[in-house]
Amino acid sequence: GLPRVAIVGRPNVGKSTLFNRMARRRAALVHDEPGVTRDPLEAEVEWAGRRFVVVDTGGYDPRGEAPVAVQVVGKVHEAIARADVLVLVVDAQQGLTGLDAEAAEQARRAGRRVLVAANKVDDPARSDLAAEFYRLGLGDPVALSAEHGRGVGDLLDAIVARL
Ligand code: GDP
Ligand code: MG
Repeated sequence: GLPRVAIVGRPNVGKSTLFNRMARRRAALVHDEPGVTRDPLEAEVEWAGRRFVVVDTGGYDPRGEAPVAVQVVGKVHEAIARADVLVLVVDAQQGLTGLDAEAAEQARRAGRRVLVAANKVDDPARSDLAAEFYRLGLGDPVALSAEHGRGVGDLLDAIVARL
């Protein structure tokens, strides 16, 4: 099948906004995961002549009853199990949190290719906000604003370079 790219990270960092932004750029279908009726969680993306499936991990616990940390870690585990590349989304306005570090540790331990997406850099003059996420030890963070669309092309370039 196609390579799989999972969007992971703690709640409210903008995973679903990024997913929707990436899905809008494809020419192919969005389809529902069996058993999850809420949201389309997977979309086929084509970028720079490469195709892959992007997965929004945020919808896997529709009840949202688990403690936040458990949800995040569990989602990272699920995503790692099936993904070729992980996109770890963080909130650059809020800054680095303990949950970001936990998610990064899970991803790193599995030895998967990981990209850090420093989201909510709405002001292009503030791409410096992404710099503190170097401390996660997962390479150059990509500064972007999923809401405005800025930097999403750079992230897609970085993804296809790792497929
Ligand atoms: P998720 O829980 O990680 O899937 O996060 P969501 O995609 O649901 O977004 C959480 C909140 O962050 C929502 O209020 C979004 O509108 C907001 N958000 C997402 N992306 C951006 C962004 O690039 N800039 C800003 N300022 N807010 C954003
Ligand atoms: Mg979400």
